[in-house]
Amino acid sequence: MSQPVEVDAVVIGGGIVGASAALFLALSGKRVALLERDFFGSHSSGVNYGGVRRQGRPLSQLPLSRRAHEIWGDLRAFIGTDGEYMRSGHLKLARSDKDMAALVAYEEASRGFGMELQLLDHARLRARFPWAGDVAVGASLCADDGHANPRLVSPAFAVAARRAGAQTFEQAHVSEVSHDGQTFLVRTASGLSFRAPWLLNCAGAWAAQLAQQFGEPVPMRAGHPAMLVTEPLPMFMDVSTGVEGGGIYARQVARGNCVLGGGQGFALDPATARPGQAAILEILRNAVELYPPLAGAQAIRTWSGTEGYLPDREPVLGASSTQPGLLHGFGFAGSGFQIGPAAGEALAQRVCVGASNIDLTPFSITRFQTHLQSQPHTSSPAIVVPSGTDNVIPLFRGRSNP
Ligand SMILES: Cc1cc2nc3c(=O)[nH]c(=O)nc-3n(C[C@H](O)[C@H](O)[C@H](O)COP(=O)(O)OP(=O)(O)OC[C@H]3O[C@@H](n4cnc5c(N)ncnc54)[C@H](O)[C@@H]3O)c2cc1C
Repeated sequence: MSQPVEVDAVVIGGGIVGASAALFLALSGKRVALLERDFFGSHSSGVNYGGVRRQGRPLSQLPLSRRAHEIWGDLRAFIGTDGEYMRSGHLKLARSDKDMAALVAYEEASRGFGMELQLLDHARLRARFPWAGDVAVGASLCADDGHANPRLVSPAFAVAARRAGAQTFEQAHVSEVSHDGQTFLVRTASGLSFRAPWLLNCAGAWAAQLAQQFGEPVPMRAGHPAMLVTEPLPMFMDVSTGVEGGGIYARQVARGNCVLGGGQGFALDPATARPGQAAILEILRNAVELYPPLAGAQAIRTWSGTEGYLPDREPVLGASSTQPGLLHGFGFAGSGFQIGPAAGEALAQRVCVGASNIDLTPFSITRFQTHLQSQPHTSSPAIVVPSGTDNVIPLFRGRSNP
């Protein structure tokens, strides 16, 4: 077997989080290897709805989301394409007075984060967005949020990382990780091997296995938002939309197609998901109420993806509490596309300067520590047998020191 390639950092996972981390590491002059099991952006990051919104996020995420907003604003300079990114506005509709009160409360609580939310009562909503269904009693508009094409944007981060000097590998399934007390040794099923003092666990819905290997089990489950796209329609919707309380979101692209999402699909296997008939019917039912111009539109394609959800719907982002050199960035709970570039940058800053500009405390993996989990960890992780639950997807195997 050939000698491992020596790098400063290995990033596992070529979604938007891992690829961004690789890009920012490479831009800082670090030797970095980005390893993706399938193709860059072929999972959540490339198949998501494309919402690039700050509005509606927990306040804890807004500093990171604000930084991401800056990166998105300069996207072409970072990744060489605008990825159809548009600051179209994000309109969050309320279907009841209670939901409108929640939007009012959010507007008050989130002041100071630069979103400049505009609250629209029923009359102002009708005047400004006449296509909105009567079921909407009001809305909150974030004029500077928007949407983008994930299939263009996410792989472009990996390509940009390569241009900046990262070594990037597709179909490079990391099958073994070990630590000898000094460095990580990372091997892929395809026979590649790397040594590095830093390892970034950006493996999306599959990241829990590596965390568990290093003594940090997390209660992550996989989720599968359902999506559909309609035939091209006359343009009527110039904002990306969502609904207070969830259930449906919709946007119209320049070609006229409307992209809609909502509800949950199901997993065919650990890496493949389908939207499911019930979720699609629910999207269509909600759509006609909220967006009457969609009545009679043909859905031409449906799909889903696999994303990691933690119980508090916050990501795990930052340093391992058990293994020096290990950083985690996963569990973005259906909203990591917008925030992903800033998450990747924060991880890169941790490697390059010891801390990120943004406080990552709310996202610490230690919030899941229990008495049982806080057992001392050795630098030679034992082989971990997955618990057998649906949400633990066994892709990594621990390996004793050579
Ligand atoms: C259908 C859907 C709609 C969504 N809509 C939105 C939205 O509108 N706005 C928004 O902000 N967010 C949205 N999200 C969430 C967003 O897409 C994710 O939070 C984000 O893409 C997560 O990025 P990631 O890099 O962490 O994960 P991923 O994109 O899943 O990337 C992780 C990568 O790790 C790789 N990997 C796993 N194990 C290994 C291994 N052993 N070796 C090598 N590689 C490995 C996987 O192949 C995968 O490519 C949506 C998600 C889905 C599924």
